[in-house]
Amino acid sequence: MRTQIAAANWKMNLTFQQGEKLLDQILAAKIKMKDHQKTIFAVPFPYLTMARSEVAEEKNYYVAAQNCNHRKSGAFTGEISAEMLHSLNITYCIIGHSERRQYFFETNTMLAEKINLCIENFITPIFCCGEALAIRESGTQNEFVAQQLKESLFHLPAEQIKQIVVAYEPIWAIGTGKTATTEQAQEMHEYLRSIIAGQYNKDIANEVPILYGGSVKANNARELFTCPDVDGGLVGGASLVGQDFVEIMRSLK
Ligand code: PEP
Repeated sequence: MRTQIAAANWKMNLTFQQGEKLLDQILAAKIKMKDHQKTIFAVPFPYLTMARSEVAEEKNYYVAAQNCNHRKSGAFTGEISAEMLHSLNITYCIIGHSERRQYFFETNTMLAEKINLCIENFITPIFCCGEALAIRESGTQNEFVAQQLKESLFHLPAEQIKQIVVAYEPIWAIGTGKTATTEQAQEMHEYLRSIIAGQYNKDIANEVPILYGGSVKANNARELFTCPDVDGGLVGGASLVGQDFVEIMRSLK
């Protein structure tokens, strides 16, 4: 079975102590990940090492950064490079979250550079794509996300695209409490898989996990994850509540 992932995105929330407590609470639930399942915690930069040691003994639990810079190194005060993440043994990084695209003006081209740097540094990118409400309402969401993948991912050779995790996150569903229906999620995930198959081939497309993100909660995760092309979720708000995230982890196929 394709890898199924419950990924928590803490964003700019929680103090160090609150984060530590939340991880303790989640780990206390002792959820065993099956071979094809993973749990990933995308935590703020200063918490990466703490989170990594918290999950060190757990099978298939990982830590992710929420971003990295699109340049290799240099005079960019306050920025964090993929190489720095690698030096902390961090193996996942969210790339192109819609909040970064919106508030930090990240473009598809810039994201392609981040993807390359992650791969060079043995970091699996969790590449976010997704349309705003106006695009959904105009019915052009497929073309929009296809362009995001084309400009940020499709320069990669087949061997490398297999290392990517894609997260479809319709912007109108992020933090709004408005979740895509299972039909909308399945339709888009199937479409994303078909364009990856078109660019590479069907076998490769079948290996790429495609997560859904956008108001995934303890009470809707199972239904969303049942969709054949939905391989888990990237979870914001509900990942900050221990019991809720545990329930989401339990909902993985
Ligand atoms: C996210 O931040 O990626 C996200 C999907 O947030 P939320 O679950 O709060 O909608």
